[in-house]
Amino acid sequence: MRFPNPSPACPRAANRAGSAVDGQPWRIPLANPSLDETRPGLGARSVRAVWHPCTPMRPGAATTPLAIARGEGVWLYDEDDRRLFDATSSWWVNLFGHAHPAINAALKAQLDTLEHVMLAGCTHAPAVELAERLAALTGGALGHAFFASDGASAVEIALKMSFHYWCNTGLPGKREFVCLRNGYHGETIGALAVTDVALFRDAYDPLLARAHVVMSPDARQARAGEGAADVARRALDELESLLQHRAGDIAALIVEPLVQGAAGMAMHDPVYLDGLRALCDRFRVHLIADEIAVGCGRTGSFFAWEQMRGGAPLGRHQWPDFLCLSKGISGGYLPLSLVLSRDAIHEAFVADDLARSFLHSHSYTGNPLACRAALATLDLFERDDVLAHNRERARWLADGLLPLATDARLVHARQRGLIWAADLRADIDVANFAEAFHRAALAHGVLIRPIGRTVYVMPPYVFDAADARWLGQRLLAALDATVPPATAAMQAVDAAGQEVSHAA
Ligand SMILES: *Cc1c(COP(=O)(O)O)cnc(C)c1O
Repeated sequence: MRFPNPSPACPRAANRAGSAVDGQPWRIPLANPSLDETRPGLGARSVRAVWHPCTPMRPGAATTPLAIARGEGVWLYDEDDRRLFDATSSWWVNLFGHAHPAINAALKAQLDTLEHVMLAGCTHAPAVELAERLAALTGGALGHAFFASDGASAVEIALKMSFHYWCNTGLPGKREFVCLRNGYHGETIGALAVTDVALFRDAYDPLLARAHVVMSPDARQARAGEGAADVARRALDELESLLQHRAGDIAALIVEPLVQGAAGMAMHDPVYLDGLRALCDRFRVHLIADEIAVGCGRTGSFFAWEQMRGGAPLGRHQWPDFLCLSKGISGGYLPLSLVLSRDAIHEAFVADDLARSFLHSHSYTGNPLACRAALATLDLFERDDVLAHNRERARWLADGLLPLATDARLVHARQRGLIWAADLRADIDVANFAEAFHRAALAHGVLIRPIGRTVYVMPPYVFDAADARWLGQRLLAALDATVPPATAAMQAVDAAGQEVSHAA
């Protein structure tokens, strides 16, 4: 188990278990007398009828999910109209808050025009326009977009395309993949093969293809005297020796640029991306950037990859060969994913021989409603100069969460754009920390789910400085409830005492 605390901490759904046990402090009695009292609540019915994703299923302890009735901006409202701050953007998908008027209006208009048509042999304006606009955002480097619905499908498509490209260009031996320690790329069988999260992987290990797992550039691994860039260089050295021996068998490397989300918001120096590009060029290995979580302005630039050289404009050759997008691209409204690829890769599939074509498809590929939501999302980026405003929001977030960043119970406080994270100090022992913190935060009006011992915040891009301060105070209160300051201090003394006795 690679999570420091493998408790029911499912990285994304961490501790949904226990989130809504009847009688918990955040739950207030039904306020609406018109509700049929004999009818069980939505949460209880859900447990009976819905198989919930990524949720521990303990016998006799079925836990009731939180029933959400509506959303508005950063807020979610439960059945009792109690509001919760959506601190992790509903599994990292939401960008501009819930029920955004502009995205709502765009979707309503699309609904009355064309709800769906297949993208094989047909096309439609939303898909074409979206592909064109995303290509333009890469300066034309990634000129072709392949559409799917979920992040995992995008990853599978990129893996298949890479392998198939090498076949088409006479190198069918290149069929292996490289992924990073603690990397996460989705949970279908192909995507899981390049995912290094034991909790998700282990049960299905016999079904999975083998990938090469290389050192993560996670800056927390810095040794005395080392900085984040030194860790990145060590990780690159390890990769280089793998490629020296095996590049002839390797089709592609897949990476989450800048922030490895499910690893616990592990962040690395951008120099790592520069190094990856150089190594992949030198050894003729495709570079797949999985920007499913970090794309769409989350890390400060529209694509995280753009920070490869400190934000200096990139030449076409400096982009990855494939870039996967999902989650935020539809504003958090509808399932949509895309694989952007170089025109030269697309070219290699253009042939009379059917076997050389990429015959992959999904029924809802390029769904017009999802594409329209994405276009409305891109419109908002332009209209509101979102990237500039997010720089300000990132400062608000840093200021608001300062009480946590400087708290002695937390270490490795870190931030990249609108992702903030810190870890519970290693010597503090709290049973099921993630679950306990999640519950405590709910009692304080915040929906948040730590990953193991990592508390992270990934809010929609519509909060202000006062919201950030409020969030900092509420999360500090949740921390106090989970790890009382006195307990933490005592454990620190114990740990120090043990060190002294070991030394003696
Ligand atoms: C969420 C995620 C995926 C998988 O996306 P799904 O839509 O959940 O299949 C893949 N890669 C990364 C980096 C992700 O964060």
